[in-house]
Amino acid sequence: MANELKLIEDNIIKALDALQKFTATPGFGVTRFPYTKEARDACSYLKKRMEAVGLAVRMDNSGAVIGRLEGKSPATIMIGSHFDSVKHGGAYDGIAGVVCAIEVARLLKESGMELGYSLEVIATNDEEGARFNAGLFTGKALLGQLTCEELKTQVDVDGISVYQAMAAYGLKPEEIAEHKRDDIKAFIEIHIEQGPVLEAEHKEIGIVDVIVGIKRARIRINGRADHAGTMPMHMRKDALEQATKVISKIGDRARLFRNCVATVGFLQVEPNVMNIIPQSVTFVVDIRGVDEESIMAQYYSLLADLDKMSLESGLTYDVENLLYAEPVLMDEEIKSYFEMSCINREFEYMHLPSGAGHDAQIFGAKLPAAMLFVPSAGGRSHCPEEKSEASDLAKAVLVAYDAVQTMSGLK
Ligand SMILES: [Zn+2]
Repeated sequence: MANELKLIEDNIIKALDALQKFTATPGFGVTRFPYTKEARDACSYLKKRMEAVGLAVRMDNSGAVIGRLEGKSPATIMIGSHFDSVKHGGAYDGIAGVVCAIEVARLLKESGMELGYSLEVIATNDEEGARFNAGLFTGKALLGQLTCEELKTQVDVDGISVYQAMAAYGLKPEEIAEHKRDDIKAFIEIHIEQGPVLEAEHKEIGIVDVIVGIKRARIRINGRADHAGTMPMHMRKDALEQATKVISKIGDRARLFRNCVATVGFLQVEPNVMNIIPQSVTFVVDIRGVDEESIMAQYYSLLADLDKMSLESGLTYDVENLLYAEPVLMDEEIKSYFEMSCINREFEYMHLPSGAGHDAQIFGAKLPAAMLFVPSAGGRSHCPEEKSEASDLAKAVLVAYDAVQTMSGLK
């Protein structure tokens, strides 16, 4: 196995080295937005890599690169991740999973075994949503969840719509709804953890149990602007003072629930002047958890706190729901194949939830999907410092390779 691992590692390092050069911000991390020159260059590199390992390669109408290995059945096991990045991101997020998937296909091809199912390696487009504030684009397209009209309403900072960007890139946005695929049997994704857990636990592989659900709401507390010096304490309606009473409980409440996090990352104070009592405070709460009950329990407790605040202070509040995305469970059967492989190969592994969104959540809501995580150095991600060891990525390749064989009836 040592030689096998070494070759996989070398291939991964070589490919990631080449791919990180396809960035709009050389020297300042990877910036690879959809429908750009960097995207096209990365895709043509991936196309060559896929062809080199013997796959039949095509670019689909979502802007994804797909390499196919025909099996006995046309039903398809898909393995891959995204090639796009955030602004000033790292060289591993998404793309490492694509490079790993190509290695899985190489091993299968070189084994000479005929797969029960066909295999497709996919490099998905616009997962991050960094350009158009949407994301998970290829997954949604493959599951028939996009309409042409939607593509016209999503625009980037320059006012260019997804529709226009796709057309300029040579794709057919008017046909996006017809892009739905019914032949995908399962989806597997290898991805860097983007958090510190695996490293802290000294594990080489993470088997993802669930991609967390998210509840996001914008809350505005309405007070009254008055002179900061002349208004006595018992007569003022200070929106910030009342907001802090509610906000300060959010973190501690999240700590009461297993595998939950809650964040207030946006806060706006009006008029935000040092000698005026704040008239209004708007904040956005982002609650994530592994099950709906723990997410909603936190959310309703927050609403109860707001009611209490309102009753005691006389201030009012408004709530605007921004998002609710259900937690998505990964497939038990594929997870058990991952686990079996880790045990057989004596890899150190653990189960964990994913706190970030991934392509696997779109597929996992509709069909069997599973994810493997590899440790992120220092838990850093979405920054140029992002790094994972090629040796860990290579181990994930072998685990996915074993799982695909089992799923295809070869093991
Ligand atoms: Zn990613």
